[in-house]
Amino acid sequence: MPSYDYDLFVIGGGSGGVRTARMSAIHGAKVAIAEEYRMGGTCVIRGCIPKKLFVYASAFSETFEDAAGFGWDVGETSFDWKTLVANKDREIARLEGIYTSNLEKAGVEIFEDSASLVDPHTIHLKRKNETVTAKYIVIATGGHPRRQYDLRGHEIAITSNEAFHLNELPKRIAIAGAGYIAIEFAGIFHGLGVETTIIYRGPKILREFDDDLRDAVEAAYRAKGIRILYHQIFQELARSGDHIKATTSAGEVLETDMVMFCVGRDPNTAALDLENAGVKLDAHGAINVNEYSQSNVENIYAIGDVTNRMQLTPVAIQEGAAVAETLFNGRPTSFDHKDVPTAVFSHPDIGTVGFTEAQARDSFANVDIYKSSFRPLFHTLSGRDQKMMMKMVVDADSDRVIGCHIFGADAAEMAQLAAVAIKMGATKADFDATTALHPSAAEELVTMREKWKPQKAKAAE
Ligand SMILES: Cc1cc2nc3c(=O)[nH]c(=O)nc-3n(C[C@H](O)[C@H](O)[C@H](O)COP(=O)(O)OP(=O)(O)OC[C@H]3O[C@@H](n4cnc5c(N)ncnc54)[C@H](O)[C@@H]3O)c2cc1C
Repeated sequence: MPSYDYDLFVIGGGSGGVRTARMSAIHGAKVAIAEEYRMGGTCVIRGCIPKKLFVYASAFSETFEDAAGFGWDVGETSFDWKTLVANKDREIARLEGIYTSNLEKAGVEIFEDSASLVDPHTIHLKRKNETVTAKYIVIATGGHPRRQYDLRGHEIAITSNEAFHLNELPKRIAIAGAGYIAIEFAGIFHGLGVETTIIYRGPKILREFDDDLRDAVEAAYRAKGIRILYHQIFQELARSGDHIKATTSAGEVLETDMVMFCVGRDPNTAALDLENAGVKLDAHGAINVNEYSQSNVENIYAIGDVTNRMQLTPVAIQEGAAVAETLFNGRPTSFDHKDVPTAVFSHPDIGTVGFTEAQARDSFANVDIYKSSFRPLFHTLSGRDQKMMMKMVVDADSDRVIGCHIFGADAAEMAQLAAVAIKMGATKADFDATTALHPSAAEELVTMREKWKPQKAKAAE
């Protein structure tokens, strides 16, 4: 039997890597982890957490306006970007410390280093210039924002990484892309008073979401004054004095102060020397794994964004916990990627779980749709013309609710709970049998009775 320095070596101290390392150590394994930047990874350092703090900050401008209808005179307001960034940085440092101390408490050895593979059991640590060996290796190196390297002037643009550390807030920003990160940052910048433009090559924002949600967010953003340009991409970026001239494929020249790429994320595999161990990648550079997150090399596993399955923190965490359970707790466990709830922290937010209407119509013979669009009670006094939208997708043959899509204040919070019901296999009749909580927006989810009929069918009646 060969002997190794560690039972498990984890590369990457983000959401997935930290959970894998900690749980494996708790199960009794001798574990080490390498993190080359900051413990906590994308989610904690430059993803979910700082983003949500910025979303909170950007919501105040509308809240101040809305207060008038409730009798408040808020008076003059001002915003200080540097205060927000400093306070955010303090909280991020605190969380980073908690991640590190939780690993230490579990007995995990930490290397502040870049790791790569020498062979299937040997890891090279770059800064120390040393090698260590492990029986199992888990790769949890996450991803990085894609840059449009073929675009002339691309180096002027920022990505989400830099957006968290800007010295100053720009007056104007143009965001390339229309996925959830683009939409969230558009809401953040607009809410903080930045003139915001979204430019997208496709026909509609938020490609992977339900069409009604996409329409609702688009309408809300346009009503706020966020400009959305479709069927266009940037063709050239150039500095011109103290601003940027961004030329689009439609020949329009946007004058702006900042350009941000939100055009996707690529897996961090290039620097890992995976070929030394024979680990196979897919066409996008992500590590190919089976349902147990095992790569084609028996003792090497990969979890989280580096596998490009679902780029979400709780998914990376659960994939990691499943690997720890499989390898060190004697219980082969795979993570079920079905019915994972997710949010878009736009203004207001989206909360969603399960099949979109279009996906359901592709997968089920008979689909019933229930939907409701209404003015939430809050806005009857705020005066803001902002509708809330709720939609349930039901498999008509089994009566099971297979999708729930919400747009409006606290949609993410509602979707988390709807996900419990959907995961348990709740039927529409179960929702109907649940007593409404009044007055709330969420009560709509248990009071929608009438099936929605497509417009065409209505016209034919
Ligand atoms: C702007 C933004 C907002 C987001 N918002 C949300 C959200 O609201 N909800 C949600 O669920 N998800 C969100 N995500 C996605 C979420 O952050 C990721 O899905 C999650 O962090 C993936 O975890 P991971 O462990 O796979 O990778 P990561 O968290 O990216 O961690 C990988 C770590 O590996 C390290 N590393 C890389 N290479 C090496 C190496 N060779 N040696 C040592 N260390 C290495 C990196 O420095 C990094 O710390 C957001 C992402 C972004 C960018």
